[in-house]
Amino acid sequence: MRLVKKLSLALGSILTLAFCTTTGLAQTADLVELVKLDPTLRLDIRYASDRNFLGFPVYEQARAFLQREAAESLKKVNAELHEEGLGLLILDAYRPHSVTQLMWDRTPPSKRDYVADPKKGSRHNRGAAVDLTIIDLETGKPVPMPSYYDDFSQKAHHDYQGSTELARRNRSKLKELMEKHGFEALSNEWWHYDFKGWEKYPILNKQFSELSQEP
Ligand SMILES: [Zn+2]
Repeated sequence: MRLVKKLSLALGSILTLAFCTTTGLAQTADLVELVKLDPTLRLDIRYASDRNFLGFPVYEQARAFLQREAAESLKKVNAELHEEGLGLLILDAYRPHSVTQLMWDRTPPSKRDYVADPKKGSRHNRGAAVDLTIIDLETGKPVPMPSYYDDFSQKAHHDYQGSTELARRNRSKLKELMEKHGFEALSNEWWHYDFKGWEKYPILNKQFSELSQEP
């Protein structure tokens, strides 16, 4: 009986995997390239450069994609910032699952609280999470924030009261606008936001170059 149970569990896993893959492929078309939807969004895709915590590029192209609904909400945040002479600077968005695996493999176990476990997948893998900051449109420079991007310390926490008042105000401004338009903050990374309902999007592994082939 035990063997039958094991076999049936294994079969169940295979079927689930097959179902997820099929669903994943069907939903891929909903990934929108952010600058196509809103050409005024600025990008600084750190994982396509060596300016990230790994120190080498893990994306072959500096591009950003999100699920359509999330991308449209982001456009609204950007439009509100424009009224103040500010805008959004996108640091990371959809991330293929293979890259999450690579990040996990290259991160020392003591630092793994900050990277997604590839067994569970990341909200970035679903095209339902974005890393971003605010820039001054006139200078093109990011506004002060309490820490650098991918700072694995207390300084990256929303409740960190150090740094300057201006930096803390900027962090709050970003949070208020993102929450107003359907995103949720993560307590230990001021730059990271999940789009509400992220659970409904499947984990994907399409590379950026493959996405460019789609309409
Ligand atoms: Zn993130």
